[in-house]
Amino acid sequence: MSERTAIVIGSGFSGLAAATSLAHKGYAVTLLEKNDQVGGRARHWQKDGFTFDMGPSFYWMPEVFTRYFERFGKKVSDLYDLVRLDPSYSIVFGPNEVWSLPAGLGSVKRLFEEHEPGAARALDRFMTEAKLKYDLGMGELVYKPSLSWSEYMKPELLSGLMRTHVLTSLRSHVRKLFKNDRIRQVLEFPVLFLGAAPQNTPALYSLMNYADIALGTWYPMGGMASVVKAMADVARAQGVNILLGEEVRHVMVNNGRAGGVRTASAVFKADVVVAAADYHHVESTLLEVRERTYSPGYWKKRTMAPSALMFFIGLDRQTPSLTHHTLFFDESLDDHSDDIYSRPAWPKAPLFYVSCASRTDSTVAPAGCENIVVLIPIACGLKDEEATRQRYYELVMDRLAQRIGFDPRPHVVVKRSYSLNDLEADYHSFRGNAYGLANTLGQTGPLRPRVKSRKVDGLYFAGQLTVPGPGVPPALISGQLVADLIINEHRSR
Ligand SMILES: Cc1cc2nc3c(=O)[nH]c(=O)nc-3n(C[C@H](O)[C@H](O)[C@H](O)COP(=O)(O)OP(=O)(O)OC[C@H]3O[C@@H](n4cnc5c(N)ncnc54)[C@H](O)[C@@H]3O)c2cc1C
Repeated sequence: MSERTAIVIGSGFSGLAAATSLAHKGYAVTLLEKNDQVGGRARHWQKDGFTFDMGPSFYWMPEVFTRYFERFGKKVSDLYDLVRLDPSYSIVFGPNEVWSLPAGLGSVKRLFEEHEPGAARALDRFMTEAKLKYDLGMGELVYKPSLSWSEYMKPELLSGLMRTHVLTSLRSHVRKLFKNDRIRQVLEFPVLFLGAAPQNTPALYSLMNYADIALGTWYPMGGMASVVKAMADVARAQGVNILLGEEVRHVMVNNGRAGGVRTASAVFKADVVVAAADYHHVESTLLEVRERTYSPGYWKKRTMAPSALMFFIGLDRQTPSLTHHTLFFDESLDDHSDDIYSRPAWPKAPLFYVSCASRTDSTVAPAGCENIVVLIPIACGLKDEEATRQRYYELVMDRLAQRIGFDPRPHVVVKRSYSLNDLEADYHSFRGNAYGLANTLGQTGPLRPRVKSRKVDGLYFAGQLTVPGPGVPPALISGQLVADLIINEHRSR
């Protein structure tokens, strides 16, 4: 193959994956990132001896990472240390009601059986189906560019899909098998990663329960920052030229074909452009109107995955009663969901998530201290003001105090809040979304924004607003499948 040139816009998981996969197949790749750090939403922030992951903290589906690095002859174990968390996470249902989800199916079955006789057997049934869906979804479906339904028209795939209850919601599927409210909540939690409520998520996505319960929750020592570093190292080793602080201002199109990009300081010419920045930003800011596949009306109708209000907090003392991941489900999920999707507003009684990575990893906080990240999912497009952030800080601290047995506020030595305005400023995030475009039934596969522009030849898209969806493993896959598409199209020419 003669050497071809590619520009990749954005250094999140999808951009790094696309750039590295193209470079591996002989492309001369330049990756342009507006920020001064690689990783996109998975950047980290360091202050006074604390290292905070600013985005993802749940490392699920480890074999997606294994498969990724194997493309380049690398083993995960050579790049970073991975530990399986046990418990996987805890769920606070009330002041005196906390469930710790143990690692491994057998232990989870025992826990469920204690709360609902017969639930262990029901879980076996549920997980057998979840595994089928996982194998089908992760083996066949997610690696497809989904440019047309014809990609799905294979008899074995269709019969597999029919068995996945494609038209049933995850919530109905769970409720048919389990009566205990807490068990139902445990099983509904994983699909929140897909950015939609369980009642609006197809039951196909019980594959997420397989990822959770059977495959486990892992932690890369050093945090997600270690994974990002490993990806950037592998990218450079494959020859990718990563340029930081280079914000793309314009995608250059000549006679309907992408010819490169322009930043504030330079012009970069290329045979193909992969836009792995937020899809909406690329279409609405970097392209002329006639070059856009989607109209403002189209974007207005999309269901975005939530945004987030986060706090990065360094404590000068430890919190032994917190596990690495704690979900505060001590308020109604449905009411909070309504505040996100049905009538967007700041949540009256929010659920939230607390990560305490220093419980597992002593390198992310000074000795005797604790590294706490709080995340409250919120609707996109809300008004983001300092006073609102502070109000939620107090609310969260009150509920956290109940859990850890002391008021954390006097022990806070580092504090930073992060929300909609920051997401927009840092990533050009559409309406301040954190997790991209939700995986609802109407926004799955070919119904998501396309990986290939309809209007501009040689312009491709990757990342959490296109296929397969939001989350780190899908973003990784997105970059690879776009690179494979480009390589295959070039070969067949
Ligand atoms: C707070 C939070 C928590 C999360 N938790 C989890 C989790 O626990 N587990 C999980 O699996 N997933 C989680 N996710 C989702 C996951 O992080 C994302 O799905 C994934 O990182 C998205 O990768 P991406 O490559 O699509 O986009 P991004 O990471 O956003 O990368 C896009 C890049 O493009 C750059 N860019 C934008 N515009 C331009 C421009 N004009 N020129 C140059 N560069 C540009 C941006 O700066 C950014 O670096 C979380 C996300 C957030 C925000």
